[in-house]
Amino acid sequence: MQTNGVQATDAIPNVPLLDVSRSNQEIREEVLQALAEVYDSGRFLFGPAVQELEAEVARISNTRFGVGCASGSDALLLSLMALGVTAGDEVIVPSFTFFATASCVSRLGATPVFADIDPRTYNIDPNDIAAKITGRTRAIIPVHLFGQAAPMDVICKLAAEHEIPVVEDAAQAIGAAYYGRPVGSWGQVGCISFYPTKNLGGMGDGGMLTTNCDILADRLRLLAGHGMRPRYYHSEIGINSRLDTYQAAGLMVKIKRLQGYTLARQKNAQNYIQLFRDRGLAVSEMVEMPYVDSSAHHVWNQFSLRVRDGHRDGMRQYLTQQGVGTEVYYPVPLHLQECFQDLGYSTGYLPHTERAAKEILHLPIFPELTFDEQARVVDCVAAYCSQAVRAAA
Ligand SMILES: *Cc1c(COP(=O)(O)O)cnc(C)c1O
Repeated sequence: MQTNGVQATDAIPNVPLLDVSRSNQEIREEVLQALAEVYDSGRFLFGPAVQELEAEVARISNTRFGVGCASGSDALLLSLMALGVTAGDEVIVPSFTFFATASCVSRLGATPVFADIDPRTYNIDPNDIAAKITGRTRAIIPVHLFGQAAPMDVICKLAAEHEIPVVEDAAQAIGAAYYGRPVGSWGQVGCISFYPTKNLGGMGDGGMLTTNCDILADRLRLLAGHGMRPRYYHSEIGINSRLDTYQAAGLMVKIKRLQGYTLARQKNAQNYIQLFRDRGLAVSEMVEMPYVDSSAHHVWNQFSLRVRDGHRDGMRQYLTQQGVGTEVYYPVPLHLQECFQDLGYSTGYLPHTERAAKEILHLPIFPELTFDEQARVVDCVAAYCSQAVRAAA
């Protein structure tokens, strides 16, 4: 393609959105050794690595307790179960998030009430939370989207005034903080995911709950184990949600390196912003850089570009043709999902959310991404932009 001085370099092969093998290969021997120890111990559930990981995640989150479970989705469900959310209750959630933030509410027969986002950060807007609190609101679930903490000071103050518990969806944000206070320690409960694409990605599914409350920690553990205590005596109806010892052992190897992974993500984000600046695109009509809240310690699970004027899908298609992996988190807001049709929402109800779903595009940002790969990604974006500008002229 002919462009005005901006040429996508051909020297570097395809750039994947995410390549978990790069970090996994570096620690291969250490992980396999840890897995072999689990194998030989025969303690596939409740092995020592599970307690070690619980303690380590609690330490990072600055909470008294960590409770392992089978996934981030289960962590959310267990949180609401422990808080007693039930049929007829309402839970305020963002619509611009992964499905699990809201499905846990519906699973319990309660109603998700969708709030709009701050269009700069894409995180839930506290003003819209305030507008949606009713006498039936039983919980609020802010999501620390893309690795950037939601404004927890405002949200927790609002929730406390109404005596509503806060469950933090920190699935994308382990290690993030707001005003220096780690995510997962602001609300009554924090939910972390070890899904492979997350900042602390496991080798399968896994999750963790964080809390400072001993009563809640105990209840979460009880509910994650079929509400059974002692064995074969069930005081209430729980679920079966455990973190495997294999997962925990593999994650223990990775969690020691989490800070390094986070620093690499932060460096990659800076590199992108500099590269976009160098090409005159940091402040442009067509693309908008991610906004960083100065109170937030951002851990960059995702790098989101806002692509204006209906160019998002075209840009994505071009990047795909050039071998650059991208993703759209998330193309359909939850309030417009087919499964939530009976809640009666229609297009136009959450304007900032709906606009973000049309304009957002995510670029590769995993820790082992190289500078040359980033330059190639930005060159491709620049090439698309200048071609689009000329097409419009
Ligand atoms: C990944 C994710 C979840 C679910 O975590 P799983 O471990 O995949 O079940 C929940 N909420 C958000 C915002 C997520 O990104």
